Amino acid sequence: QVDGLTLDAEAVALDRAHVFHSWSAQAHVAPFVVAGGAGSTVWDHAGHAYLDFSSQLVNTNIGHQHPRVVEAIREQAAALTTVAPATANLTRGRAAEAVLAHAPDRFAKVFFTNGGADANENAIRMARLHTGRDKVVSHYRSYHGNTGAAVVATGDWRRVPNEYARGHVHVFGPYLYRSEFWATTPEQECERALQHLERVVQCEGPDSVAAILLETVPGTAGVLVPPAGYLAGVREIADRYGIVLVLDEVMAGFGRTGSWFAFDQHDVVPDLVTFAKGVNSGYVPAGGVLVSAEIAATFDDRVYPGGLTYSGHPLAMAAIVGALGAMEDEGVVENAAAVGRDVLGPGLADLAARQPLVGEVRGCGVFWAVELVADRATRAPVPAAVVGAVKAACLARGLLPFVVDNRVHVVPPCVVTPDEARRGLEILDDALTEATPAP
Ligand code: PLP
Repeated sequence: QVDGLTLDAEAVALDRAHVFHSWSAQAHVAPFVVAGGAGSTVWDHAGHAYLDFSSQLVNTNIGHQHPRVVEAIREQAAALTTVAPATANLTRGRAAEAVLAHAPDRFAKVFFTNGGADANENAIRMARLHTGRDKVVSHYRSYHGNTGAAVVATGDWRRVPNEYARGHVHVFGPYLYRSEFWATTPEQECERALQHLERVVQCEGPDSVAAILLETVPGTAGVLVPPAGYLAGVREIADRYGIVLVLDEVMAGFGRTGSWFAFDQHDVVPDLVTFAKGVNSGYVPAGGVLVSAEIAATFDDRVYPGGLTYSGHPLAMAAIVGALGAMEDEGVVENAAAVGRDVLGPGLADLAARQPLVGEVRGCGVFWAVELVADRATRAPVPAAVVGAVKAACLARGLLPFVVDNRVHVVPPCVVTPDEARRGLEILDDALTEATPAP
């Protein structure tokens, strides 16, 4: 019998030899072995267990290996593992119905994709064809995916080497802690960010702007929960100039913020919604676009020029039906809201009060960011070595964190229990203490 340590070593050796990794200098990848998981925990072959406060790439909203989702995939695999998108398939229809059940009434149809990037790709295409206009306005602090238009709509560094799509314009969104608008209150930040957006739309020529594409809560950029009124203000600007509002709920949707969609908390209804990740927790890759009745009607007699071999793949659809059914029956979204309100919110506020490295904590539900600073007065980010030390100290104590730039994102599955959430915060607290440089 092969022992676990040998399997872990084989996993690392094969990975280093043959797997080309995303967004990485290949010689500097340090892979972390995951062999199995259940709920909010993952483990390697040797049995080292970690509380998963990353939800992998913030997608396992229902936790690992939920039996109902695994069983739904197993049953579908026994019946029909693949089918062309042009066929009618009962599981696909049920998945579309299940997704729409949580959306506002104006949404009529779902276009299924393989993930989040191609969902945004298709939403942009629909907006352009619906309006007959070209430009897409999005935030600098955003991530929308790794395909042609989606990566250029992205605001962060990943756009820059990939800028081959045309018609993209970026604006700054609200981020009071590092305000671009010299704001000192959420109200000022909101008002000035809206003024900036409207001026950019006017200067670009409103008749050339097809879509405003925003993450409802920018996730990878730092869990930037928008101030009250921002998204409603964006909706007004979109309406004033006949622009389609696309909200990207790929990371924020399906329970992450403590509601089914993050926009449910922001008094706004978009025209198109993109989703992926939490819709079936990534058990089988899937994403999609929720299409309003009005935009869907544009393509009643006109061909929609887009499609994918695996649009509405039966295994992915079965996973959606299983995941959404379990989330409804088990109160998973309510759990995310309660854990955020009762444990993560107060616990992180306490951490911020005591830990000198913490500049700000922000978030809601099971969607939080802890921003680490070298100096609380200047808000200068900590050097990468300090972030690395925090991450290493978390791993050594059995916590798998999600680290981006100078931040630790606290993003456990929506099924995380209050005790697990408390344990994760204790580990993070100890890790911060250990990584704090001596004065
Ligand atoms: N949009 C947002 C907000 C995301 O966070 C991501 C992925 O992290 C994407 C789009 C892209 O999704 P995918 O990697 O499934 O293509």
